[in-house]
Amino acid sequence: MTGTTGVADRSIYLWWLGAEAVPNGLLEGVRGHVGRVYGMTTRVWHGRDRPSHAFDPKRNQYSSTRILEWVLQTGPATPHKVLAVTDMDLFIPVLTFVFGEAQLGGRVAIVSTARLNPTPSPLRAEPLLAARLAKEAAHELGHAFGLVHCDLMRCVMSRSASLLEVDAKGGGLCHDCWTRYLDLREHPGGSHV
Ligand SMILES: [Zn+2]
Ligand SMILES: [Zn+2]
Repeated sequence: MTGTTGVADRSIYLWWLGAEAVPNGLLEGVRGHVGRVYGMTTRVWHGRDRPSHAFDPKRNQYSSTRILEWVLQTGPATPHKVLAVTDMDLFIPVLTFVFGEAQLGGRVAIVSTARLNPTPSPLRAEPLLAARLAKEAAHELGHAFGLVHCDLMRCVMSRSASLLEVDAKGGGLCHDCWTRYLDLREHPGGSHV
């Protein structure tokens, strides 16, 4: 052990893992939002590799869990958090699709535009997509910090299984989740979850 790493030494890295080029302004919007919500430095990671092995031809979708494992191996090293943003349609085995996934209390999270985009083709960074993506990004990152679901609809950690619920919820943390977040951030890896 060489001592603990301070919050100032840790960043949130955003990594575009899309099949297509990233739409103008899309990452910047997410970056600004999660930076404000979590009060941390955010950076962009420019890795060119893509997790093509995560594609499931039977489902014609990508396994979000496999992508998360790959990001952990391939992306920015500890102690940074990594938020992958993609246009690939994501699934976990028990669900038809997911907006995103995160390792609870881990380092990595992913969100996809595939089910959030009001105009599927072509992909543009329009305001509604940007707002939805920012909320889901903040939500999945919250899980990566160790936050669990919250009962308050206005809180970004409230559960959202449909676009209706994504649009209805707020974009920031409620007071309780914020307090919990500060505690988790200061004591990562603790037995708080
Ligand atoms: Zn969740
Ligand atoms: Zn909350």
